[in-house]
Amino acid sequence: MALATARRPVFKVKPATFTPRYGVSFFNNDYSFQRVRPNSTSVLTKTTRSPEAKPTISPLSALPTTVLLRSLLVATISSKPYLLLPSLSILSFLCKPRRSLLLNVDRNPILHGFLKSTFYKQFCAGETHDEVKTTIRQFKNMGFQGAIMTYAKEVVFDHRTKAQHGLGIMQNQDQDVAGSVFCAHIEAWRKGTVETVELLGKDDYLAVKLTGAGPNVTEAFTAGELPPPQMLDALDEICTKCKDRGVRIIVDAESHHFLSGILRVTLELMRKYNRDGYASVYNTYQAYLKSTPVTLGRHLAASSEEGFTLGLKLVRGAYIATDDRSLIHDTKQDTDDAYNSIAQGALRQEIGEFGRKNGRPFPSVNLFLASHNKASVLAAHQLHQQRMEVKLPTVPVGYAQLHGMSDEVSFSLLQLKGSGGDPKVYKCSTWGGLGECLAYLLRRAIENRDAVSRTGDEYRALKAEVGRRLRSLISFST
Ligand SMILES: Cc1cc2nc3c(=O)[nH]c(=O)nc-3n(C[C@H](O)[C@H](O)[C@H](O)COP(=O)(O)OP(=O)(O)OC[C@H]3O[C@@H](n4cnc5c(N)ncnc54)[C@H](O)[C@@H]3O)c2cc1C
Repeated sequence: MALATARRPVFKVKPATFTPRYGVSFFNNDYSFQRVRPNSTSVLTKTTRSPEAKPTISPLSALPTTVLLRSLLVATISSKPYLLLPSLSILSFLCKPRRSLLLNVDRNPILHGFLKSTFYKQFCAGETHDEVKTTIRQFKNMGFQGAIMTYAKEVVFDHRTKAQHGLGIMQNQDQDVAGSVFCAHIEAWRKGTVETVELLGKDDYLAVKLTGAGPNVTEAFTAGELPPPQMLDALDEICTKCKDRGVRIIVDAESHHFLSGILRVTLELMRKYNRDGYASVYNTYQAYLKSTPVTLGRHLAASSEEGFTLGLKLVRGAYIATDDRSLIHDTKQDTDDAYNSIAQGALRQEIGEFGRKNGRPFPSVNLFLASHNKASVLAAHQLHQQRMEVKLPTVPVGYAQLHGMSDEVSFSLLQLKGSGGDPKVYKCSTWGGLGECLAYLLRRAIENRDAVSRTGDEYRALKAEVGRRLRSLISFST
């Protein structure tokens, strides 16, 4: 990847009615940026309704009371530094391997029971198949289109300490089987992932963290290479199984250290499995990376020239605490601008030279916006609706928030659901044993610590909903 030469994208704006403060698009590799003027008017205003204008009851009223109370407990801890910081230290301590019986979350029943009924249930789908199936059913009953499910194994590379953390990285457990090396880590990952596929159905997504397959895979990714043949076979098996069940696959973006290898293998999978006019496989693009416009441009070119659908899942990026900071946009605002630029560019079918007048044709793209940023997702939904209503070209789009986070954003989107079935909203969850999920829980807690204003908003919204239910209970009983 030409990281060193990646030029900072600057964006040019098309008028848009609702927010975001920035509407943006790419122009070749030479980007120019202009902010949307607050009073700019949309060419489409007459035919559309602002999503915010729709009168609604509290979005959180859809939340079952037990979930609401647990969410309030977690939001209370997350929004108060004097509660969150000690909780983070405890979680981080428990994450360390080889804990004594007393401190082993899988072996100490009291510790297990407490963590399971609080943090684990808030953010994770279950330890057993039945628990996971129940969680998915609950998502669908609440109006979500489906679930995005991950098996909780991954490796995180800390750029500062140059150390890898996670399961399956202690040592190689390779065996020689009939002349070829058989890696037990890849096999364990394959089994866990196949089990996950079997829990999913049409409308659900499988999300995979490829580093969870252990050292042989992470070594290849570090070198920017494809993983070993055993892993490629496992991926083929998983893609075929998913295709048969109508389940789509999202390959998660991970630590930058592994990213070039992950991008390489995902592009191969998209080439092979996205040939039926839709994306079976999605790659994840991290908007916070300065290099992402170049990466995306390369993938759009491949998709346009070779005729496969590009699965474009867009996130801001979750590894800011461990990745090399110089690779990431200098400010949050730059990351926001980059995110909105790609999301809106895809919805307008205009990214860089693709889709532009006298440019290259815009390829087939399926978009997935994974974000808790309400302004970004509402702006994207409005733009999508506007374009659908006046029959302007656009791309299919889905939205996702993480299980246990930003329910207010999820339910606000669900309240906008129209007769066409849009917006399609998903909850993304992780399953696995409590011990396996601790690193994931720790990352969620750190994310909450870093999103102070959002966690504060969430806490106030949840508290208001609890208050509303208490008041209606009192007025009902009097
Ligand atoms: C369904 C789902 C799937 C996800 N999958 C992945 C994945 O595969 N890979 C992955 O990396 N992440 C993933 N994430 C996490 C995501 O990348 C973000 O960390 C998280 O969602 C917060 O970003 P946001 O869009 O919700 O918005 P916000 O909360 O508005 O943005 C916070 C984000 O902005 C960026 N940021 C914050 N401060 C700065 C700064 N000073 N300079 C530059 N940028 C800054 C960071 O990316 C931070 O996470 C996923 C999130 C969701 C909801």
